[in-house]
Amino acid sequence: MKLLVMGPPGAGKGSQSRKLVKEFNLTNISTGEMFRQSYERGENLGIEAMKFIDNGNLVSDEITNEIVRKRLFEEGKEEDFLLDGYPRTVAQAKALDGMLNEMNAKLDAVINIVVDKENILERMVGRRVCRKCGYTYHTKFKPSHQEGVCDKCGGELYQRVDDQLESVRNRLKIYEEKTRPIIDYYKGRGVLLNINGMQSFEAVYRDIKKALRDIT
Ligand SMILES: [Zn+2]
Repeated sequence: MKLLVMGPPGAGKGSQSRKLVKEFNLTNISTGEMFRQSYERGENLGIEAMKFIDNGNLVSDEITNEIVRKRLFEEGKEEDFLLDGYPRTVAQAKALDGMLNEMNAKLDAVINIVVDKENILERMVGRRVCRKCGYTYHTKFKPSHQEGVCDKCGGELYQRVDDQLESVRNRLKIYEEKTRPIIDYYKGRGVLLNINGMQSFEAVYRDIKKALRDIT
């Protein structure tokens, strides 16, 4: 199964993806994660990407397509995967279709987590991430047992630069302008599954599973 998870920033894509990956035995291909790793290795690609991310902007199509192409063609030809954080523009969606065609593969489903705009700011500015293991929390919706400390590994929880208010506002504007049109693109191809994201984590996950069962 080849899946894509979409939705506005703060819709809970990351946590839902993690659970889907585990249950369906998929490889999680996260562009955000790949950029961070590339940056930590000191590669030009990662350094360039981080400049966009730190300013709350989308990484350019060129850099993003390059890192995804590398990953899919070097390691991912046969595998079942879930793409997280990609594509974010119609140009990237078209590039992905091109890559999948070359691989004789196709997307089975595009999961679209739908959340009202008013909910998003609250969701995002409350988000905290573990410095050690990367697990995600929310101060209101999914708090850790002890404030500021990871339940899983005891690591320190922090707010990512791109979860801060100014950055969130900017990302929302960009999402509306550039990413929302992708939803229409996939709708036209008949692979879009709309999921109500304004419910508990478990309820959202249950609805995703049900929608996937209905198509397979
Ligand atoms: Zn942790």
